[in-house]
Amino acid sequence: MKIYCDYCGTQIDTDKDITCPHCGAAYADDDELKTEQKRQERQLLLGDLDEKMHRIQEQEIMKEFEKHRKEKNLELIGKVIVGALSLGLAIYVMCKIGAILG
Ligand SMILES: [Zn+2]
Repeated sequence: MKIYCDYCGTQIDTDKDITCPHCGAAYADDDELKTEQKRQERQLLLGDLDEKMHRIQEQEIMKEFEKHRKEKNLELIGKVIVGALSLGLAIYVMCKIGAILG
């Protein structure tokens, strides 16, 4: 980024110059630079956080989906078992009736 030297006002390109090219002053303590660095760090952190939140949300949705799917499966298995038992009972009763009548 480009900042201005606190001592002589010369423009410094922080990507190229370590110190002021005109007067040689160090700019590490420059407020402009500090503010910009903080802003960038914050943005990086926030961006990272945002991505993490997004991933957590996706995982939660997948978990809910899996849970729902498993519940549906259990429901289906339950229905099949109840159906089979009912059919077995009906056959059993019919056999008994047949035995009594026959
Ligand atoms: Zn300077």
